[in-house]
Amino acid sequence: MVDSIIEVKNLTKTYKVAKKKLSQKATYIHAVKDVSFQVFSGETFGIVGESGSGKSTIAHLIMGINKMTDGKINFKGRNITHLSRSENKELYRQLQIVFQDPYSSLNPKRSIEWILTEPLIIHKIGTKEWRKKRVIEVLEEVGLGESYLKKMPHELSGGQRQRVVIASALILQPEVIIIDEGVSSLDVSIQASILNLLNDLKAKHNLTYIFISHDLNVVQYFCDRIAVVYLGEFIELFHTEEYNQVEHADYTEKLFNAIPSVAFSPLDCNY
Ligand code: ADP
Ligand code: MG
Repeated sequence: MVDSIIEVKNLTKTYKVAKKKLSQKATYIHAVKDVSFQVFSGETFGIVGESGSGKSTIAHLIMGINKMTDGKINFKGRNITHLSRSENKELYRQLQIVFQDPYSSLNPKRSIEWILTEPLIIHKIGTKEWRKKRVIEVLEEVGLGESYLKKMPHELSGGQRQRVVIASALILQPEVIIIDEGVSSLDVSIQASILNLLNDLKAKHNLTYIFISHDLNVVQYFCDRIAVVYLGEFIELFHTEEYNQVEHADYTEKLFNAIPSVAFSPLDCNY
C-alpha cells in the first residue's frame, strides 16, 4: 500500500466580494467547496476544469499562500492546516509550485544565476561555492547548463524560461511539485518537451506531482488519476486508464468531447 503524501479534507474557500455601493449586501464567491482527495507518493494527480473553476485556489491553499475558509490539509501525515509558509519554511521547502506564465514568474531584472541562487540563500543552504555548483547541476538537469548562468530572462524563449522556473522549483529538492497550468502558455511542441522533461525528473527524483490544467488532452496524457472540478467542486475522480470503463458526469463527457480530433501525442513531437 502506497502512503498518501497529501490529504485534503473538506477544503473550502469563500471570497467576500467588495461591495460597490453601501446599500448593497455583501456577496461571496465560493471558489472551492468541500473538496477532499488524497495524493499518493510517486503519482501524478491531475486536476482539470474550465477557467474559474477553482483550480489555482486549491493549489494556493495547499501551498499555504492563501488561507482556507474551512477544511484540513495533511502533508506526510502532519496537519499543516494552520501553518503559514513563513512559520514552517522547512516543511514548505518540500512543497514547490510551478506557475503558468514563465514570463511573469521570473524577475526580469535578475540573472538566471541570481534567480536560482535566491531560494538557497533564503533557506540558508550551502556555501557560496556549493550553491554555484548546485545551480549549474540543476540547470543541466533541465537541459540548459552553465552557459545560461549570466543570461537574463528576456534573452530566453518561453520554453527555456519554463525550464528555469522548473529548475527553481527543483533546486530545494522538494518531494511534491504543484504544476499550475505549467505548459498552457507554450506551443504544443514545446509543451511536449516540457512534459517529457517533467516525467524524466519525476522518475529521477521520485517526485509527486499535482498537475493542474484546463486542457484535458494534456491531463489525460500526463496524469495517473484525474479529478474533474466544476464550480469549485470535485465532480469526479478516476484512474486515467479506466476512463473508458466507468460512467462519467455529463460535464466530464463534454470536456472530453471538446478535445480536437487531432490527439495530443507528445512523444511524436520533435524537440
Ligand atoms: P482557476 O484556476 O480554475 O481558473 P481560480 O481558482 O483562479 O480558478 O478562481 C476560482 C474562482 O474564485 C473564480 O470565480 C475567481 O474569480 C475567484 N477568485 C480567485 N481569487 C480571488 C480573489 N482573490 N478574490 C475574489 N475572488 C477570487
Ligand atoms: Mg488558474
